[in-house]
Amino acid sequence: MALSGIQIYKMLPRTNCKDCNFPTCLAFAMKLAAKQVELSACPHVSDEAKSKLSAASRPPVRPLAVKSNGHQVQGGNETVLFRHEKKFFTSPGLFVRVYDSEPADVIKARVAQVDTYTVEYVGMELAMGGIAVQAHGGDFAAAVRAVRAVSKLPLILMADVDDLKAGLAELNEGEVPLLYSATVKNWREMAALATEHEVVLAITAHNIDTMVALTTRLMDEGVKDMVMAPSQRDLRQSLHANTTSRRLALKKNYRALGFPLLSIPGDLPAPEHETIAAAQAIAKYSSFIIIDHFSPETIYALLVLRANIYTDPQKPIQVTPGVYEINNPSPTDPVLVTTNFSITYFAVANEVEGAGLSAWILVADAEGMSVLTAWAAGKFDAERIAKDVKRFAVADKVSHHRLVLPGHVAVLSGELEEELPDWEVKVGPREAVDLVAFMKQALV
Ligand code: SF4
Repeated sequence: MALSGIQIYKMLPRTNCKDCNFPTCLAFAMKLAAKQVELSACPHVSDEAKSKLSAASRPPVRPLAVKSNGHQVQGGNETVLFRHEKKFFTSPGLFVRVYDSEPADVIKARVAQVDTYTVEYVGMELAMGGIAVQAHGGDFAAAVRAVRAVSKLPLILMADVDDLKAGLAELNEGEVPLLYSATVKNWREMAALATEHEVVLAITAHNIDTMVALTTRLMDEGVKDMVMAPSQRDLRQSLHANTTSRRLALKKNYRALGFPLLSIPGDLPAPEHETIAAAQAIAKYSSFIIIDHFSPETIYALLVLRANIYTDPQKPIQVTPGVYEINNPSPTDPVLVTTNFSITYFAVANEVEGAGLSAWILVADAEGMSVLTAWAAGKFDAERIAKDVKRFAVADKVSHHRLVLPGHVAVLSGELEEELPDWEVKVGPREAVDLVAFMKQALV
């Protein structure tokens, strides 16, 4: 049963010492009740209160991980329904499914493509989560072997109990695959298999009541790490199943539904809806997403969507302040000034790099904000830029003393020249897209 803020407050030291970065114990208690802070943020809680509060502040969605050979895909540990309330913690893994009825060479070729696919997006390397192996009338163990011959990514094994046993025998020690799935018919055998091998177990059910009955029975059997896979077959039903489960877990602290979710867009009757269903699963709470069609053009969109949804909305994606070299610049090449908001930095860097030009980019510390936002917030002013020019020893890298300011903050040029009397400040274009033309015309 969830405790109210007042109930939690009564168990805190009530000294208002502020060590938790909240002004009062009551403010901290309210945040703890809303699951927006960790109990560990207060270092003064008594052991007795800690044991009571730990149970109450236990994650409403059980954290777990599917692991293999140094890779892992985590699920659970979420505390909010909407990312703007706090943030989402565990980014879902995208798994590509292969079938044991396919020839080993076909499986290997496909898996190798998935395994090696990475794409860079504003400084982050995006990649696939793993491989799902589906029994389909072939040799299941041989299919798992074929996958493992070319990839060390985490696995979801999808088969009956006997094939799962054969598949598990092919795995390396220490691997934690996800077994799919326990149903009303086989849950006892699946529970025994999951507990014996200490793996994650998926549960399929056609409605929420059956899901609750199954998770409850499996918990009684000692299965801890479970993933719920509502077996809906259209976008409306899958959205409803996922949001209902997550809402009950978070808002009612309903333990029987407090597990990560798994979706299989590859099971939709209309293959053209697979990417839409995968996007829905990313946005609405699935931790493990199995698709049948792998193509870079659709995967890229899904991975970027995931990156944006699972970015902390209160912390902009940042690059580390400093001086960045584009195309091996020489001391005569220009110094372009920008902020450490990732999208801003990469917009500038990509324009220059893509045109084959060389430059030094001074990324000033603007607390991760874009140029205009940082300027309006007082985080990108002449004093800060001058400080970073000195801090990063820009003068030691170039033979000239000339900086190019973003056009949006042309107003800073006079002040910056006062802060840096030895430097000339030129005003560049407002938009990164105009930077190459500016560099070719105004900086020759
Ligand atoms: S650190 Fe603990 S005792 Fe101090 S104000 Fe926060 S909740 Fe209260």
